[in-house]
Amino acid sequence: MSTHIQGPVRVRFAPSPTGFLHVGGARTAIYNDLLRQSVGGAFILRIEDTDKERSNEAMTRQIQSALAWIGTVWDEGPFLQSERLERHRERAAELLANGRAYRCFCTAEELEGRRKAAEAAGSAFLYPRTCLARPQEELDALLAAGAPFVVRLRMPDDHVRFDDIVRGAMDFPPEALDDFILLRSDGSPTYHMSVVVDDIDMGITHVIRGEDHLSNTPKHVPLFRALGGTVPTFAHLPLILGPDKKRLSKRYGATSVEEFRNEGILPQALYNFLALLGWNPGDDREVMTREEMIAAFTVERLNDSAAVFDREKLWWMNGQYILRLSLQELWPHLEPFVEQAGLAGEDRERLQAALELHRTRATTLKELVELVQPYFRSELTYDPAACAKFLKDASLPDLLDTLRARFNALPAFTKEALEAALRALSEEKGAKAGVLIHPTRMALSASTGGPPLFDLIEVMGREATDRHMGRFLAFLREGGKPAEG
Ligand code: GLU
Repeated sequence: MSTHIQGPVRVRFAPSPTGFLHVGGARTAIYNDLLRQSVGGAFILRIEDTDKERSNEAMTRQIQSALAWIGTVWDEGPFLQSERLERHRERAAELLANGRAYRCFCTAEELEGRRKAAEAAGSAFLYPRTCLARPQEELDALLAAGAPFVVRLRMPDDHVRFDDIVRGAMDFPPEALDDFILLRSDGSPTYHMSVVVDDIDMGITHVIRGEDHLSNTPKHVPLFRALGGTVPTFAHLPLILGPDKKRLSKRYGATSVEEFRNEGILPQALYNFLALLGWNPGDDREVMTREEMIAAFTVERLNDSAAVFDREKLWWMNGQYILRLSLQELWPHLEPFVEQAGLAGEDRERLQAALELHRTRATTLKELVELVQPYFRSELTYDPAACAKFLKDASLPDLLDTLRARFNALPAFTKEALEAALRALSEEKGAKAGVLIHPTRMALSASTGGPPLFDLIEVMGREATDRHMGRFLAFLREGGKPAEG
């Protein structure tokens, strides 16, 4: 089949608000967003909150904020499915009236016996159409007596066939399908009824959803037809697997959009990463803006095999975004972490300069803020093991003390001046520059790696540099005793 899609389309994302938006749902929303943006049309957000016990309003808000945060854009909604139940019942009544559906008075107990027998025989239980065969007078009598009933769809006796964009030609034989329930005995519509009525009323042209719904589609297709609706084109997305090749689970860490956000993943990176988890742009591009993905998006390149969620790859990609976005673009995302770290009240210019200096070395926003902590802490904790080399060098404290004094005496605290001062001192002492560079870095950051040292010192500033060097000297002179609080 030709899968090329011409717009305008009407697509929907229809989450059930029973939990946080997980990455599988987010990816479904992303493909709907990409398709709608690439060919034009409308993206509808529909909250499928008919399961009152499992749905809640807080989750409905949460899902919307996660979708907005990640960068998907919906044109219509959110519509609450729970507000449309009357409409679903009304359409079921039409099917009853025109004979496409029928009342079933079989009790759960009666069916249970048959179900057990089918199971024992190793076959699937299909409703045996007992009530379809019941004489009309009997049905009328049951109805008049107020006997409880469900409403079932009269399924066609043919195969149900449809072309799935991802899975290709699908064919379900009649013996695999039964007259499923549209309305329960309390009159409430089932998921199948609600979803199809809503898709028709909302004019949905393409249904992109998870593979877990593939077994529902042979029910939905005849129901669309029975209701006089146009059957949309389906695309069922393969599962997202964990590294153990089983369905992605909590065992490997975060699975919800919210959790990734809290770990310091950027929405742009998560969007990009999830988009590539089951789709490719046809070339080897990996870091792509939403606009680039929209331009490259075609459903032909949705994969039909399961995707493994590679956390390291996401972290790598996030690092790429931290690197490529301007500090101004990063700032709104960084701010919560800055606040959490207690740095919100610090000098903004100095904070931004430090962030700028370290951003090539962080893969998450949380890490980035962690890296600039030394600029703002009144004291650092030095690890005696990591400082063993410095502790052994008896002449180091005096040398560093001299360097500290020279730094203090500089009229301008610039990286050029700082470098010149350090190099002059090492030359005077006939030592290599590294003899001063390494302990100075340790003194200022309690770490052996980081950005170019003189940039670091300049951003650190005169006061913090003096303070950290002073404490490091004390630490060395005390023979590596952890500095006291
Ligand atoms: N509400 C369903 C779910 O959250 C989705 C239904 C659909 O996309 O058709 O799994």
